[in-house]
Amino acid sequence: MSTNVNIDWDKLGFAYTKTDLRYISIWENGKWDDGKLVEDNNISISEASTALHYGQQCFEGLKAYRTKDDSIQLFRPDQNAKRINRSCKRVLMPEIPVEKFVDACLQVVKANEAFVPPYGTGATLYIRPYVIGIGDNLGVGPAPKFLFGVFCCPVGAYFKGGLAPVNFMISEKYDRAAPHGTGADKIGGNYAASLLAHVEATKRGFADCVYLDPATHTKIEEVGAANFFGITKDNVFATPKSPSILPSITKYSLIHIAKEYLKMQVEERDIPIDSISEFKEAGACGTAAVITPIGGIEYNGELHVFHSETEVGPITKKLYDTLYGIQFGDVEAPEGWIVKVK
Ligand SMILES: *Cc1c(COP(=O)(O)O)cnc(C)c1O
Repeated sequence: MSTNVNIDWDKLGFAYTKTDLRYISIWENGKWDDGKLVEDNNISISEASTALHYGQQCFEGLKAYRTKDDSIQLFRPDQNAKRINRSCKRVLMPEIPVEKFVDACLQVVKANEAFVPPYGTGATLYIRPYVIGIGDNLGVGPAPKFLFGVFCCPVGAYFKGGLAPVNFMISEKYDRAAPHGTGADKIGGNYAASLLAHVEATKRGFADCVYLDPATHTKIEEVGAANFFGITKDNVFATPKSPSILPSITKYSLIHIAKEYLKMQVEERDIPIDSISEFKEAGACGTAAVITPIGGIEYNGELHVFHSETEVGPITKKLYDTLYGIQFGDVEAPEGWIVKVK
């Protein structure tokens, strides 16, 4: 097993790297087994698995951070545990006890400690938990067996050399979720529904698309696979409220930071696309990118620019620095946000 890894941390992107060990646990006959770490990064499952045909699956994403004093920590893994359980419930999969989920993440990070990037590179160890329906099953219905897996990959800093704004376009042709569908759950089907829209947006030179609410197409919902926030001209942190948005842990952390650290007013409410000029700054947030400043959004053939297409706005920068500081252990975290791996 490799304990010395040869990785150029500065060149890492968001790509798969095979690390040493991953965690697997199986649910059968009404209960989860104890789970174990395995070397093989391939899983062998029935060709009739519900995950393959009927989309019975869900996943999570979180990161391990190396701090200045060389400890390793997770950011709010209990929130990922709660969210995976909401996703599991929605697609009829068994829930995972919060302690089992967090313990699996801790085991995987410890077993792959050599892959946790050094402090100061901005790189992190991305952790991918998932649950899939497995076993023999042809008729449409929940699987007889389930697999809960956790693997990890080192990933690079999203922004090398400073926060750079990117442009997005409103998706006028495609929705990612239905009004009473699965938009609020982290399941693969939402991503399958967004792949084409994403590719078409990138072909036109945009980073991704912004989805409007599927019922009326008048309100901002998601920015690609991230949540939207805007800073109004009165310095209010505003973010959409809707049952078809994926509840981003980063977004709820930013709401807390805006209120408690930056003493800003916060509003979770409708964000009509027709009134985006109320915002002087805007951003997309999520675990992978932390915060992506939004330069502009194209809507009805026109690019609406917020703060600037080339520079991050001052409030977005403060939000980013505070969150990033908390995640890497340089800024004091609210109670319960940090779980030490070592
Ligand atoms: C995972 C995800 C997010 C971000 O959630 P975080 O908990 O902040 O990582 C936002 N939108 C979608 C669609 C997602 O799948």
